[in-house]
Amino acid sequence: MDFSTPNRVLPVLETIDRLYETEVRPREEALAHRLDDSRNYLDADGHLHPELWQARREIMSAAADAGVYSCYLPESLGGLGLGRHEMVFVEERVYRYGVGLNPALLSWTEGATPRLIFCSPQQRERFVDPLVSGRATSLHGVTEPQAGSNFFDFTTRAERRPDGTWELNGHKAFITNVFEADIAHVLCVTDSAAGKRGFTYFQFETAPAKAAGTMRLGKTFQTMWGDGITGEFVLDGLVLTDENVLGEVGGAFEISMTSINWTRMRRAGMCSGWGTFLIEATLERAKSRIVGGKPLGSNQGIQWLIADMWNDWFTTRAMSLAVTWEVDNPGPWWKTERSKDEVRKICALKLQNDEAFYRIADRAVQVHGAAGMMRDSAVNKLFLIARNLRVPGGSDEVQRSTIAQTLGL
Ligand SMILES: Cc1cc2nc3c(=O)[nH]c(=O)nc-3n(C[C@H](O)[C@H](O)[C@H](O)COP(=O)(O)OP(=O)(O)OC[C@H]3O[C@@H](n4cnc5c(N)ncnc54)[C@H](O)[C@@H]3O)c2cc1C
Repeated sequence: MDFSTPNRVLPVLETIDRLYETEVRPREEALAHRLDDSRNYLDADGHLHPELWQARREIMSAAADAGVYSCYLPESLGGLGLGRHEMVFVEERVYRYGVGLNPALLSWTEGATPRLIFCSPQQRERFVDPLVSGRATSLHGVTEPQAGSNFFDFTTRAERRPDGTWELNGHKAFITNVFEADIAHVLCVTDSAAGKRGFTYFQFETAPAKAAGTMRLGKTFQTMWGDGITGEFVLDGLVLTDENVLGEVGGAFEISMTSINWTRMRRAGMCSGWGTFLIEATLERAKSRIVGGKPLGSNQGIQWLIADMWNDWFTTRAMSLAVTWEVDNPGPWWKTERSKDEVRKICALKLQNDEAFYRIADRAVQVHGAAGMMRDSAVNKLFLIARNLRVPGGSDEVQRSTIAQTLGL
């Protein structure tokens, strides 16, 4: 096991640094009045302001053109085929730039997702290329108003009609990027008696469905940090064909597990990068803030808070690198069959990252004092994001339950 930066990743990191300087920083400076003031961050409907969306889309396209946006995907789909271990280094480089427009450099929930691996060659031009090229965005519709943690509670249905088409009906809630998504991936029940084989993913362009009234956007759910991209939608008689099936009929459980394992492991670089950003900001504050005639950081009580932040960051990163190394060897990271040992370690990675990052963010707020509690400060935004991370992608409790189950309980 080698913890040094892999050679294959070095040019990707250089590209990220270059893109940050040429594509991200100038846009962050031009849009500082929106990024740094939550009163200007959203439009009149409470959605992410169109100028910020425009900037994100431009950064996504530039990152895709430079080959980094979806670099975790196999080369056959337009990625660089990087493994999960390599991606820890890539993700932490992107996230250590903070909480501005930098996350748009890499595809995430609303971009080219690992579910694309399950698309057929015939679906590539329509559903894969637009997302991998950063020209389109997506949504992942799984959660419902009455169902979240338990897969078998979902009720959105896709029924086969006599003419062979499918009719979709249901209600999805707490969906990231629901207002902007060009392409939707929606989990449906296709056979309620078939257990894990009873679920199917459908993918479709949102514009025609919205125009026909068979996909209706609902409420905006304003998150703790007011991102303006989360909400709900209703499917009301949306008719699709087999060409819209993502993977195979009855195959959604496996696809979902692959996708969620990716989401869980992606925490590693995200929490390491943002953790580094918070540690650096907190060190700077501790050195420059004078309290009672001396730097805040000269007090042992403050030093211990920062030492604990670093210790959480370092032990968590070491664990993440170890787990992702094991997942990649022999790999690949998207394989659907996983041993209990692997599943337990992936859940442990998510749990450890989310809880450690939350402690890091909490201590960063404490050292910053009132300045860390101001709504638009980067420290406060990351504290709220850290609190949020502990629920989506499988909550802390879901990770603990799976760890216990794989230990035989
Ligand atoms: C900002 C944000 C973005 C999101 N984006 C998306 C998205 O893009 N697509 C999507 O499909 N969903 C999305 N979600 C939804 C997210 O996946 C769900 O919130 C998550 O799966 C938990 O479901 P729930 O909120 O319904 O909680 P519930 O299932 O109601 O659970 C509530 C609490 O009880 C705990 N709990 C549940 N069962 C047990 C048990 N057996 N034992 C012990 N504790 C238990 C849970 O851990 C949780 O803490 C998003 C959520 C947020 C907050």
